[in-house]
Amino acid sequence: MESALAKQIYDKLLSVYGPQKCFLEHMTPFQLLVATILSAQCTDKRVNMVTRDLFKRWPDAEAFANCGREELEQAIFTCGFYRAKADHILKAAKAIVEQFHGELPDTMEGLLKLPGVGRKTANVVLGDALDKPGFPVDTHVRRLSALIGLSGSSDPEVIESDICAVMPPETWSQFSHLLIVHGRTRCPANRPDCPGCELAKLCRHTKADKNAGKKASAAKKSSTSKKTVKAPVKKTAKNATKKTVAKNAASPARAAKKTTSKSGRKT
Ligand code: SF4
Repeated sequence: MESALAKQIYDKLLSVYGPQKCFLEHMTPFQLLVATILSAQCTDKRVNMVTRDLFKRWPDAEAFANCGREELEQAIFTCGFYRAKADHILKAAKAIVEQFHGELPDTMEGLLKLPGVGRKTANVVLGDALDKPGFPVDTHVRRLSALIGLSGSSDPEVIESDICAVMPPETWSQFSHLLIVHGRTRCPANRPDCPGCELAKLCRHTKADKNAGKKASAAKKSSTSKKTVKAPVKKTAKNATKKTVAKNAASPARAAKKTTSKSGRKT
């Protein structure tokens, strides 16, 4: 995608929704890491309900590293996939305490060394808690990037690099938030509101729809005109004979008269 078009899309979304904040409640970068791990396949609303109590009981990496697995599983049960999530949180908390002296790494490379932390989680923490450039690609960002035409790929890493290549780093985190809020409100999966969409003039999906519509109506017109225009009937000997036979059948007397006058004898 061209840089100018990506910027137009960003500006339009910013003017519609205003600046967006992180949807996950947190007080520290570590708490955001935990909340992001919990948010996989779960709503932000549910995660926020769970973390309000969770962070009172275990506020930092050291507290999580020393908590009981069963207790933690019970506390996060309603977020779904609670066993795997508890495992990731415990391993990440232990790694932070043992390898990083209790401090969360503040680079993509460092964050990716933590168990259970992928690029999406690392980008959330970088952009929303560490004030560093980060473009998280979640399910909405992935879907909208393809629809709008921000990237031609469905691979989150390629989408991230396509968008980051054309947008200034200070917009990355905000752009991701804006795409998420647009995906939740105007452009949900399977029922995008294209006629009412603020991005309709910029979106590849609607342009593709219009082009398909134009092609279909052009094809319809051409097939209609073929049906109405009749090819001229050529005067051939065969046609002439057919006509004569038809006339003679209608009037046998006329036929007899013609035959006699031309040849002079009856046939
Ligand atoms: S025009 Fe349609 S497909 Fe494109 S972003 Fe808007 S709602 Fe989604």
